[in-house]
Amino acid sequence: MKDDGIVKEIPSKSAKFSDWYTAVVLKAELADYAPVRGCMVIRPYGYTLWENMQQRLDARFKATGHVNAYFPTLIPESFFKREARHIEGFAPEVWWVTHRGSELLEEKLALRPTSEAIINAMFAKWVKSYRDLPVLMNQWCNIFRAEKATRLFLRTSEFLWQEGHTLHVSNEEAEAEALKILDLYLDFIRNDLAIPVLAGLKPDSEKFAGADKTFTMEAMMPDGQALQAGTSHNLGQGFAKAFDIKYLDENNTEQHPWGTSWGVTTRLIGGLIMTHGDDRGLFLPPRVAPFQAVIVPILFGKNDEAVLAKCREAVAALEGVRVKLDDDTKQTAGWKFNQYEMLGIPVRVEIGPKDVEKQGAVLVPRDGGRRTADGGDSGKSSGHSGKRFIKFADLKTEVAKLLDEVQQNMYQAALERMQAMMSEASDFDGFRKQLEAKPGFVKVYWCGKQECENRIIDETKTTPRVMVSGEQDESKGKCIACGSETGTTIHYARTY
Ligand SMILES: [Zn+2]
Repeated sequence: MKDDGIVKEIPSKSAKFSDWYTAVVLKAELADYAPVRGCMVIRPYGYTLWENMQQRLDARFKATGHVNAYFPTLIPESFFKREARHIEGFAPEVWWVTHRGSELLEEKLALRPTSEAIINAMFAKWVKSYRDLPVLMNQWCNIFRAEKATRLFLRTSEFLWQEGHTLHVSNEEAEAEALKILDLYLDFIRNDLAIPVLAGLKPDSEKFAGADKTFTMEAMMPDGQALQAGTSHNLGQGFAKAFDIKYLDENNTEQHPWGTSWGVTTRLIGGLIMTHGDDRGLFLPPRVAPFQAVIVPILFGKNDEAVLAKCREAVAALEGVRVKLDDDTKQTAGWKFNQYEMLGIPVRVEIGPKDVEKQGAVLVPRDGGRRTADGGDSGKSSGHSGKRFIKFADLKTEVAKLLDEVQQNMYQAALERMQAMMSEASDFDGFRKQLEAKPGFVKVYWCGKQECENRIIDETKTTPRVMVSGEQDESKGKCIACGSETGTTIHYARTY
């Protein structure tokens, strides 16, 4: 990776989106292709990003009373068959283990494509009384769902996720839990990942296999395709009945509890890359970036020791900030600027001989102006410059302030982009035209009939993404497929 042309090797985001995406993932060393088709290796930089995301989610789960556990990867086939809709929905994606060594197994075992079957089977053993409820459990693990092609982080046969599984005494409680988790996810994705989303209900055809209701967050990628960013399901009593989970209520009557399940995956990393990256590479939101700031010494071969000493002082001053000091004297500052912009580090701290003299430093946000190696401006800034000279004594507060600013700006910029990719259509022809003219979310009225949905899907290759809460019943309109009156609106989009 020691060549100056590193950034030039990334194709243009606007012209070749898919190539751009793959190049960024590989160049930034987030992930790589594995020997088995459909599989990926998450490299240390990508895994650190995932760990930061994990920590921030995990803290939220625990703050709302959830505890972590771990269930096995191997799940007997018969467990899957207990919930009919569940096995039907997952059948095409399941990997099966058929042998122990060379010995054929009596019953084949699934590599978990999700864990409702095994977890609810165990819940049946543990839940006996209303005093055992609610059960609020989460698991961090890997998941297997067969894919023929590989799209790093977006479509892989094995990925990482968390899956929450809960049981409650009533449908109201289960519904409240599913919605509480949706809110928790929204807080995480908007405030930590700076990704705007539409949130609400999935139509029945897009529900999780076995769920009564699926709530979803849908993000819009710059190429006009929607990305399902996380789901929370109200499972009703389907799994509790299928797995014979029963408890005695306060009147000593046997009852089935009500369940939920919910998850987000490493796919969010794909969403992050696509949402914030640009022609220079990655751009990571400060709250989850492996490095929030990089310190680059500006060396001229004169007073270098004083500059490097000041840089080390800066590392100490920035305690609590995830910071990297690049004191490699073989690479130019210009090369380092490109490199760390490509890696998406949100803030760069530059310290040169003049800064040492003036007891200062220069801060440059990743989305701000660029300074060339000789200290001048390249003038190639897109938007606000954001570059600032600060007093060294204020380093920590100024960096913290700039990180906050960058975090807010990233969300704002992404929100404006998403809003520019939302439109409405009142009839089928208009819908078709809108899809061509302006790829993104197109909101339409829909009567709720499956045949109308099928027609839209078949003729336009879009899928219904989400019925946004609060948008329903605001006014009556006509279903774009059959023309009948309805108060239900739904956002369609092409999708990954
Ligand atoms: Zn209709």
